[in-house]
Amino acid sequence: MDQDPGFIAAVEEAKKGAAEGGVPIGAALVSKDGKILGRGHNMRVQKGSAILHAEMSALEQSGRLPASAYEGATMYTTLSPCDMCTGACVLYKVKRVVVGENQNFQGGEELLLNRGKELVVLDNAECKELMATFIKEKPELWNEDIAV
Ligand SMILES: [Zn+2]
Repeated sequence: MDQDPGFIAAVEEAKKGAAEGGVPIGAALVSKDGKILGRGHNMRVQKGSAILHAEMSALEQSGRLPASAYEGATMYTTLSPCDMCTGACVLYKVKRVVVGENQNFQGGEELLLNRGKELVVLDNAECKELMATFIKEKPELWNEDIAV
């Protein structure tokens, strides 16, 4: 699943975020037939946004879609989704969430499982490295983003 186009796009987005001096988390929303509906990265720094986490950016970039578009869809994200992004996945009835890693942060995974979502954690080394470096270099920015 590390080679899924959706996951590759999510990692590319995370790196883009890092290059922009932002929080290096990326995401991509992929339809059941494998089409990337939207992709994005955390825009907290770039847009001064409180809500544009990677998953929210991907949903936003997907635009206004009928409920049927989310049926069977997968949200790929480089880091375990926070409660807000988990809630958005539940709201739009995304079927599956594929997470790059959950060691640097573990979000609403229990809620996803309780709501019948498929959850896959890839434990991807590149994702872990990106986040670990960021948290080490900018702990105050990271704490701000997860409201600590
Ligand atoms: Zn989030």
